[in-house]
Amino acid sequence: MVEVFGIIRWWKRFSNSKVVTNENNIDPKTLYEECVEILRSKEESHDGSKAGAWYHKFSLEQTRSWIVQANEYVMESPDMHWLMRFRTKSVWTAPRLSMVGMLPSEYQETCPCCKRDAVESIPHILFECKRWDDQRRKVATLISQIKRLTKDCVGEEVQVSDIMSALLLGGEYCGARLTNWLIERSHTESDPGFLRVARFLGEIMRLRSRIISPLITSMGQRHNGRTRSRSSHRALSK
Ligand SMILES: [Zn+2]
Repeated sequence: MVEVFGIIRWWKRFSNSKVVTNENNIDPKTLYEECVEILRSKEESHDGSKAGAWYHKFSLEQTRSWIVQANEYVMESPDMHWLMRFRTKSVWTAPRLSMVGMLPSEYQETCPCCKRDAVESIPHILFECKRWDDQRRKVATLISQIKRLTKDCVGEEVQVSDIMSALLLGGEYCGARLTNWLIERSHTESDPGFLRVARFLGEIMRLRSRIISPLITSMGQRHNGRTRSRSSHRALSK
């Protein structure tokens, strides 16, 4: 099994800092501050891509301070990592992996997790994939809020879409966003939305890698040998 979600390994991948020379003696504050800088620079990068256009279309930059607020939850940084990746559409979905030859071509149209005839897009992962029904219950109140919010705006429930994805990930639609997605002044009781979403993403992506990694391994061994297989594992974990 590929274990790739530890904060140290994650952080090493995204940073060249010398602080990691001694893995057992990292100052947590330094570690956190550097993580924030790396995440911020990634979220702020304007590369003119479709993902960048999506990011700005739904004003995701207005909730960028989640990175700073996450300071209170520093131990959950691996989940923060997945939230950042979904917000910037930097996720290796099955069609993407298939397109570069890491998964068989059938996964252009079939979700490897629920095995249905469904493209494994970000909206599919977040809202539709049956494989994640249990995990999705933990963000059910946020999803209900999204349905209400979109219905208020367009008069009817919107289909599972980029709009719903953007709202779950801290974006804005029709001038509205989820309440308490960030920690707000009036915030008192439950965890902020970004933390609940980050935990949800972290959990499903850990489970998903167990489903997808073997598919990639057999494909890699069949066609390209061990080198390809290793590189595909890296792509999955990034
Ligand atoms: Zn699915």
